[in-house]
Amino acid sequence: MSDSVSTQHTFCRVCHASCPLEVDVQFGRVTAVRGVPDDPIFAGYTCIKGRQLPDQMVHDSRLRAPLHRRPDGTFEQVSSGDALDAIASELRRIIDTYGPRAVASYTGTGGYQNALAVPAARAFHQGIGSSSFYTSVTIDQPAKGTAPFRTGIWEAGYHNFTGADVLLAVGYNPMVSSFGPTGGLQGTNPFVVIRDAKKRGLKLIVIDPRRTELATQADIHLAVKPGEDPTLLAGITKIILDEDLIDHEFCDRWVGDLDRLAESVRDFDLEYVARRCDVPAHDIVAAAQMFAKGNRGTAGCGTGPNMAPHSSLAEHFVIVLNTICGRVNREGDEVESGFFLYPDMPRRAQVIAPRNPTPGPAARFRNLHGMRGEMPTTTLAEEILTPGEGQVRALIVSGGNPVVAWPDQELTIRAMKDLELLVVVDHRMSATAEFAHYVIAPTLSLERADVPHLMDRWFRAPYTNYTEAIVPRLGDVLNEWEVFYELTKRLGVPLPFPGGAAPTDHQPSDDEILELAYAGSRMSLAEIKNNRMKVHPEKSLRVQGPDPDCSAKFTLAPADIADELAVVRTESDAAEAVGASSAEFPFRLVSRRLKHVLNSLGSELPGLAVKGTTNPAYMNPDDMADYGIADGDIIEITSPRASLHAVVETAPDIRRGVISMAHSWGGSSLTDEKVRDIGAPTNRLVSVDQGYDRVTGMVVQSAIPVRIRIFESVK
Ligand code: SF4
Repeated sequence: MSDSVSTQHTFCRVCHASCPLEVDVQFGRVTAVRGVPDDPIFAGYTCIKGRQLPDQMVHDSRLRAPLHRRPDGTFEQVSSGDALDAIASELRRIIDTYGPRAVASYTGTGGYQNALAVPAARAFHQGIGSSSFYTSVTIDQPAKGTAPFRTGIWEAGYHNFTGADVLLAVGYNPMVSSFGPTGGLQGTNPFVVIRDAKKRGLKLIVIDPRRTELATQADIHLAVKPGEDPTLLAGITKIILDEDLIDHEFCDRWVGDLDRLAESVRDFDLEYVARRCDVPAHDIVAAAQMFAKGNRGTAGCGTGPNMAPHSSLAEHFVIVLNTICGRVNREGDEVESGFFLYPDMPRRAQVIAPRNPTPGPAARFRNLHGMRGEMPTTTLAEEILTPGEGQVRALIVSGGNPVVAWPDQELTIRAMKDLELLVVVDHRMSATAEFAHYVIAPTLSLERADVPHLMDRWFRAPYTNYTEAIVPRLGDVLNEWEVFYELTKRLGVPLPFPGGAAPTDHQPSDDEILELAYAGSRMSLAEIKNNRMKVHPEKSLRVQGPDPDCSAKFTLAPADIADELAVVRTESDAAEAVGASSAEFPFRLVSRRLKHVLNSLGSELPGLAVKGTTNPAYMNPDDMADYGIADGDIIEITSPRASLHAVVETAPDIRRGVISMAHSWGGSSLTDEKVRDIGAPTNRLVSVDQGYDRVTGMVVQSAIPVRIRIFESVK
């Protein structure tokens, strides 16, 4: 191991923005991390989370070997070989006893920061013949995947952010989350990008109950009442239709039911929408006109509306706005991102006809079905707890923390305790790992090869990057794919990727598995490896003309959407969607992210812990004064389902009647004794079967109706 300092290039995988990094390595350890000023799209951008990587790699809390839970509940260290032998033997017993569907896996947000974690989990399920594949997508923004199937899909995609002269951003804040919907502002150097876009004349409309970092840049900020985005977007649609601001030429050719759309929003008149959303009517009109009169640029929803009631409706209406205003890529346009890691697909300026968005196997609850090859996580706790054909008995959790993330914490904990086998792949003893039979210690990002598989389709340029492992592994740790590989080997079944099954005659490398998982991609892995941090203007995707015989059209008011919209119109407000009354639960708890952590990941690191060790309940100062609450007080927050404790922090950027809290904090205690040290999980407040989305099963995890009282005063 060299004692001289070497400097290498890699990219960060704490969140999916994939910022390029320059790292110094000495004695096999990372000693310093910097951005890369020469990078053509990030220009040196990083955030505080990524700069803590040297600490994360060696922190005391990092697991460096697998653990096995003894009968008395304590854990003992075991070798990875012994752990995998025992896990495989239990899986074989469970499959033989109950059938393959009894074996489930769940990949959480952490797993998405590894290009091989999700493909390997999928391949594992194919190998053993189990449909019980779950991810965090179905408790985050599943309507993003389903809504386009119901309306029809524009094959060439909607407008890019680059070149947009107007942007309507609904409930997302890429300055903190590093995420934007397709066509929106992404987390690649977002502060500079938005400043430059504003300089060139971009008009920005933000819909958010908070004056977020993005909202401070807005030309119009509609501080909507939480949960009322579908009403507001239906109202904006009605204004655009009534004022005849649509793209007629486009709609005449490609939209099949404009009349039915107009009929479906008929009752969302301005006076009603303004009152229900608590937004000035003239601002709504100005926002509708500003969006419709732009030439290029899209509307897009983030986590806020996707976690609130009627999430499919919110996603539906941004598609409607983009469609009726003709914000689609036309023949000859360039597609912004490169899609280099995926097979070449036609990009014709035409509609792919609507189809069933949830064609997967039936879940056993709420008449829900699988979507995009995975099952709805909102039913998984019940799939575990409910006896009968298809009951889940074994669960492998990869890069996730169900106890603080799945809706309904109490139900989730019961499910974790009920499993015959729980395996958690995590680098720390999470709240879920406490219940595991085995905890597998994974490699951390700088110990594995990778590609930016998510951003490949969201980068605002056709850009490629790759990293090899930068440092040797610390301890008996496994890359996530290796866990599934070793288990299938022991079970005697293949681990099939698009490019073929993982070889068993030798131990494959990360690169070999990347080749198999991304086989048939537009650019080969070998070429990507030779083109790190590079933009390829000559390889950008260009939109072709439509097939002459293409007769498909958008359906913008399918019957179930029109029915759901009619239901919304009968509700007094969004609280009614979860069966609550605003008189009893006058506040709305909304979800948010914090700058210094991804969910609660990283809160143990000293450089981040100084920013706070809890997920505060941010409140408007006038609300605090009304309740006699001071900064630092602990309040009890009660929903129709449960209560939690939270430390209050003043936030003038939040409208009255709203409490804003980050999700996925806290531990496995249901009584929050350590709320000042570890926070509390908002998942405890929600029910899986109240106000859920009928298409996706998405549970209401934001705009939750709550009431509050002081629990502990600092005075
Ligand atoms: S924005 Fe995300 S990828 Fe970039 S440095 Fe921060 S955590 Fe890492």
